[in-house]
Amino acid sequence: MRVLVIEDNPADAALVRVLLSDPPGAYETSVAQRVSEAETKLLGDRFDVALLDMSLPDAEGVDALHRVREAAPSMPIVILSGQDDEALATKAVAAGAQDYLLKGHVSEVTLRRALGYAIERQEMHERLTASVDELEDQRASVIRLNQLKNDLITVLAHDFKGPLTTILGFAELIEEGALLGDDARDAAGTIRRNVFRLTTLANDTLALSRIEHGELEIAEETVDIVTLLDEIVQRTDEPERFNLQTTATGASIPGDRERLRQVFENLLRNALKYSLDEAPVSVAVRDGDDGFVRVDITDRGIGIPPEELPGLFRRFARASNAKKARIPGTGLGLFVVKTLVEKHGGKLTVHSEVDRGSTFSVALPRSGAIERAPHVAVVVGDATLGPFIAYELRSNGYRVREYKDLADLQERYAAEPSDAIIIDRDRNPGDASALRTSLDGAAPRFIAIGGAKNADGWDASLPKTFLAADLLAALAFAR
Ligand code: ADP
Repeated sequence: MRVLVIEDNPADAALVRVLLSDPPGAYETSVAQRVSEAETKLLGDRFDVALLDMSLPDAEGVDALHRVREAAPSMPIVILSGQDDEALATKAVAAGAQDYLLKGHVSEVTLRRALGYAIERQEMHERLTASVDELEDQRASVIRLNQLKNDLITVLAHDFKGPLTTILGFAELIEEGALLGDDARDAAGTIRRNVFRLTTLANDTLALSRIEHGELEIAEETVDIVTLLDEIVQRTDEPERFNLQTTATGASIPGDRERLRQVFENLLRNALKYSLDEAPVSVAVRDGDDGFVRVDITDRGIGIPPEELPGLFRRFARASNAKKARIPGTGLGLFVVKTLVEKHGGKLTVHSEVDRGSTFSVALPRSGAIERAPHVAVVVGDATLGPFIAYELRSNGYRVREYKDLADLQERYAAEPSDAIIIDRDRNPGDASALRTSLDGAAPRFIAIGGAKNADGWDASLPKTFLAADLLAALAFAR
């Protein structure tokens, strides 16, 4: 333990050294005779604890304490004073000193104990401060999520209503026999288009909710982009407006077919929606020069004002000209598109000119860059701790599965293997090697919460009360 003794009386400093000389090598002391000297030492060196005399040539009383604290805010300080002054002791502790010892009244044992406790208390204080910061962060993120949910409900309620009203209106007309022949066929077409719109909206909403909860999964399939684009074109309202071309040597890429369908469905629908009737839309697939396949979707539509481009991929962002033209929309699609493309290891970009048109480009890697978040199995079975762990892990990009108890995990493990398993050992006693055997020799990393410290076979172990940062560190270590 490195101890900085700030003491101008050489005899007192020597006494401290003697008191801390046993066992040899356990304490390393360094003496500063003034606060300024202590400040210099603290600039270049780290000490575990300081012993401070509050009456020094260049600083007196609480002032000396303040200066040392400022020089090393996280170092615990124990006062060693010649003054038996209750008021001063109280003031010193209030100003952040960990303890107040009286010269002439300290023994080897009391001094060592005081230093040990001071370090422990300081650590505890820091953990508490970190917990408070963490709680505040969590509170802010709950408020943000709640706001987001409220925004979403408002936007969605509004956007679901439009198509529903149309569908209901036409369905009633057909039912009453008011529409016949071509009129009835047109009405059916309108109903179908509005149902598609609602489907896209529902899919985007679900995707948004998964993204927010960190639960978006990307399957690893082989997807032929050109075939997929062709299917999507055929399902749009006006397939004849699209001109699909490819110069790519082959356009099969690793990815999630349904998610990529969602990406291009959104972009192709937008291209139609934001351009004038009958204006053609080109969809060009080509090889990028960097191992990416690029799909450029170019319309001759209303375009996007340049100053609004940077924020366009945020959730609920809508350009002013689209709103002014009263083109219906939620501003949900592009956010979902961008996230899905990035989850595939790709990039979404846009070039646009107002009244001339836009090109949205999706670049997708030809070989395996799909973001693979590790799977973590949480076997905690506690109504508060379990959700807390799951929330923290998900918001840090892990995929999480929760299990009631070990039996539940063991039963489902063959179908749901994990990269790491977190187990509450107070609720699920047993040793790690037995568990490993019961999981049929699987090799995930095992993290224990509670139970005896450093028990054999666990890759990391956390105390029952821990900070989110401890949990993430244990997992990072286990990765
Ligand atoms: P929505 O179309 O439902 O509003 P999106 O997230 O798909 O939601 O698009 C966000 C905004 O970006 C749109 O509201 C519109 O202002 C603009 N936008 C998207 N695609 C185009 C496009 N092809 N041409 C012009 N503006 C577009």
